[in-house]
Amino acid sequence: MQPASTGHSSVARPSLVWFREDLRMDDHPALSAAAHAGPVCAVYILETGGDLGRPLGGALKWWLHHSLMRLKADLADHGISLILQQGDPRKLIPALAKDLGATSVHWNRRYYAWSRPVDAGIKAELTGLGLEVGSHKAQVLTEPWEVKTGAGGAFKVFTPFFRAAQPMCDTWAELAASVPPLTGHNAPDIHSDSLEDWNLLPKSPDWSGGLAETWQPGEAGAQKRLTHFIENALLGYGEGRNIPSKPATSCLSPHLHFGEISIRRVWNNARAAMRASPALSHDGQIFLSELGWREFSIQLIYHYEDFPQESWKEAFRSFPWKNDPSAQRAWQSGQTGYPIVDAGMRQLWKTGWMHNRVRMIVASFLVKHLLEDWRVGEAWFWDTLVDADVANNAAGWQWVAGCGADASPYFRIFNPMSQGEKFDPEGHYVRAWVPELAKLPNKYLHRPFECPTETLRLAGVHLGRTYPLPIVNHEKGRKRALDALASLKQHSSGDLV
Ligand SMILES: Cc1cc2nc3c(=O)[nH]c(=O)nc-3n(C[C@H](O)[C@H](O)[C@H](O)COP(=O)(O)OP(=O)(O)OC[C@H]3O[C@@H](n4cnc5c(N)ncnc54)[C@H](O)[C@@H]3O)c2cc1C
Repeated sequence: MQPASTGHSSVARPSLVWFREDLRMDDHPALSAAAHAGPVCAVYILETGGDLGRPLGGALKWWLHHSLMRLKADLADHGISLILQQGDPRKLIPALAKDLGATSVHWNRRYYAWSRPVDAGIKAELTGLGLEVGSHKAQVLTEPWEVKTGAGGAFKVFTPFFRAAQPMCDTWAELAASVPPLTGHNAPDIHSDSLEDWNLLPKSPDWSGGLAETWQPGEAGAQKRLTHFIENALLGYGEGRNIPSKPATSCLSPHLHFGEISIRRVWNNARAAMRASPALSHDGQIFLSELGWREFSIQLIYHYEDFPQESWKEAFRSFPWKNDPSAQRAWQSGQTGYPIVDAGMRQLWKTGWMHNRVRMIVASFLVKHLLEDWRVGEAWFWDTLVDADVANNAAGWQWVAGCGADASPYFRIFNPMSQGEKFDPEGHYVRAWVPELAKLPNKYLHRPFECPTETLRLAGVHLGRTYPLPIVNHEKGRKRALDALASLKQHSSGDLV
């Protein structure tokens, strides 16, 4: 194909890289392949249209804006300008390839039910036009179709999945590579939107202050997090990862979601640290298995296309969820009267992230104590998490609700008081996020409604005024959930546990 608008036949024709959830330059198979072929052009498309996936939540939009700004600057350092366009990639990618006179188009694969036919259609069209098309493995260590049961099917349970996947992860991760020297392709006639025009940042009100204080979106921020984690927190991760007041986890989830760091780098660097220091082998293995849960979630949405929006266990699909807007609001705003739940929900609102242990507690509270549909919680997380991820979010919620593939048993109901006392015994986490309770003694911090009146008075706590009374009594809520779930069991075909 000849270039349409550029028309410079003496200049080497470029390869186009379509950036999606891989906003980095290091270990980027699509960028490497394009660089091997010649000069490189880069595009990011803000995909809009009914069948082009779920609209981004507010926190994801904030992150995307900053991440694209970083990527644009990083690519510019190599002479490559990042073209920004908004719309339907089925139209935009072939048109752009034509206008650039590109010889090939490369992207890294995604695994959503909606994106696979889109990619396949674009690939067929470009191939028909005589272009080379490369879709590359980058987002995962194991393709969803690579890890198979003895019978050749997909795994439904994590432990055997990961036993089979881990050696494959090791082999693939070894191949992590830096991108070869790059040559940019000048394309002055090609239209590019301005990032500001996409209005990704919140304006009135601008609620993003806490996000900006907490995060550094972009590849440099991601690499810094990984190095810091391996040097300071990998040792002790197995225990520390359950203590929400400790900076004991990697906080890589938004960086991994946006592909600002390659999963191969994360795996490889952890492995290298484990090889260098045998003392890390126990904690390192636990960290690798968490990365394994990410692989497992991706293969679930690949094999079960309804998984992101439908209870995996059929028995749950007719469950009579309550749908009580005032209970939902109390949960969202951290006003349930259960300090560990409220602390988590406020951490989420302020920083766009919540500790994994607390995600499990708040999710269990919503689904079991309040009998709200897990999708209500999933949607709130989708809007507020900087790491909101179709696969991990649905898998996390379905696990807690008990309706997922490899789920927590339906009768497991987290006790918010004892969870708080076990994982936040000194109350550092609750005091940081629920400051109105800060002066309560540890004994009552996780159960202020049991605190003697005089102790409450001395701590400046007035229940029902400065801090809410519980919106549901724990024992009653627990029994109500067990009864509802038990009746579900009676009417199910036995796929509950
Ligand atoms: C209800 C619920 C909703 C969740 N929603 C999301 C979500 O939208 N996006 C998201 O990335 N994670 C989600 N998780 C999983 C987990 O809570 C986060 O991945 C983790 O807290 C991120 O912090 P980290 O990067 O410090 O994790 P680390 O402990 O440092 O783990 C390293 C990486 O492993 C992966 N990982 C860790 N735990 C899990 C897990 N249980 N499932 C899948 N991958 C995991 C993540 O990519 C994470 O960044 C959810 C969990 C629950 C219970």
